[in-house]
Amino acid sequence: MAKYKVVQQLDKCIGCGACAAVCPENWVMKDNKAHPKKKEISDKELEPNKDAEDACPVKCIQVKKA
Ligand code: SF4
Repeated sequence: MAKYKVVQQLDKCIGCGACAAVCPENWVMKDNKAHPKKKEISDKELEPNKDAEDACPVKCIQVKKA
């Protein structure tokens, strides 16, 4: 059951790869942009996705309660 939503502003992504480095479980690089594999995540997936949110230098990732 999804408890959190992963929101990304793709147009702001600069393709630095930080999110994919700290959370390869859910972030993949494609065409010089990052993409989340899942936009709805559970409790156990929260921490690495929060790490991705914190790591993003342009703050274009938000992890929110669903
Ligand atoms: S950390 Fe942010 S800017 Fe860098 S690739 Fe991921 S979403 Fe894009």
